[in-house]
Amino acid sequence: MMQFYDQVKERMIRYAKINTQSRRNSDVWPTSSCQMDLARVLTDEMLKMGVPQVYLDEENVIAYGLLPSNLPKGQGKAIGFITHLDTAEDASGKDVKPWILKNYDGSDILLNKEKNIVMKTSDFPGLLHYIGQDLILTDGTTLLGGDDKAGISSVMTMMEYYLQHPRVPHGVISIAFTPDEEAGGFARGLDFERFGAPIAYTLDGDHLGYYMDQTFYASGAILEIKGLSVHTATAKGVMRNAVDIASEFLQMLPPLEKPQYTSGTEGFYHVMNCTSSCEYARVELIIRDFDAEKFEARNELVRSCGERLKEKYGAENINLDLRLQYRNLNEVIRQVPYMIDYLKQAIRESGLTPETEPFRGGTDGSSLSFRGLPCPNLSAGYENAHGRFEYVPIQSMAKNVEILIRLCEIYGNAGE
Ligand SMILES: [Zn+2]
Repeated sequence: MMQFYDQVKERMIRYAKINTQSRRNSDVWPTSSCQMDLARVLTDEMLKMGVPQVYLDEENVIAYGLLPSNLPKGQGKAIGFITHLDTAEDASGKDVKPWILKNYDGSDILLNKEKNIVMKTSDFPGLLHYIGQDLILTDGTTLLGGDDKAGISSVMTMMEYYLQHPRVPHGVISIAFTPDEEAGGFARGLDFERFGAPIAYTLDGDHLGYYMDQTFYASGAILEIKGLSVHTATAKGVMRNAVDIASEFLQMLPPLEKPQYTSGTEGFYHVMNCTSSCEYARVELIIRDFDAEKFEARNELVRSCGERLKEKYGAENINLDLRLQYRNLNEVIRQVPYMIDYLKQAIRESGLTPETEPFRGGTDGSSLSFRGLPCPNLSAGYENAHGRFEYVPIQSMAKNVEILIRLCEIYGNAGE
């Protein structure tokens, strides 16, 4: 049996059963109180393990654990890990019934006999990467929450290893469990001083052995248009139809630079919502790019569209509010190149090939990095996240524990 197998399996199954769904359209932070249930479980577990510094921030729903350096004079570079408590809203996260399929043979998987829910390899060919492994699955009616409880399971098991092997040398190791990643919370309540490590890795994402040091630059814009409605009989030269003006704006955007036509490092404009009547229209869009200059050019294009409409229809009738949402993580990570060098080394020394691809989104790490805590991401190893066909190979979680321990060792050996 692979080292750490039993520990990550037991944890993943136990955590999966705790509902921690966050709410995307919420005005309050944290967005759901149920996330506290898992934060409490993790806090208790860390105390029982004997983690020397444990703190539960009940207001922000963040559980912290810190293991001081056991090297002479507290040597070694400090390292941190951050994983998120919440699960996505895209499928139910209540009454999750995780089960294990051992030694997967590559065939379609019957998730739910009663409801005849089958996960087909034709729909999810990624399954074939895991032949011979043991998968934790759902009953096809809920998500699993391996995003990000697979990450939590690996981090907790890594911490447990150090407490059970106090003579294995390490520097400061800090861990934190944060809420609302899926709701765009960006780990806003994380107290850097309490966290106690100057850098961290988030453990999230699919595909074992993948890391992420590039995210989008992101902004969002809201265009509001004031129209003027009059009876159609007497409209000539008087009516200002906000529907038409909104449509005119949409036509100004490059037709092929949309999410459905782009991939890789290509950026886009995405109109998320458009409501309009003759009197009033509102267009919501987001702008994304990996390249700083191209991103700025995109923002400029949207601004200039707004200006053109103002000239044509009067500045008082057009309002464009464009705001930066987050920046490409890489801007910060490239200032601390050792973070990725060490990570790749740890992945390689664990017998995997480190792979990366630019992430077409943002992470808690994007925001944390710009707030002063450089924070790239290592995959947590779950698959098909945010849906009923989510699963986690137990071997992937166990392998991640190995990677984390290798990484801690490298940080421990590195001078301050
Ligand atoms: Zn996640």
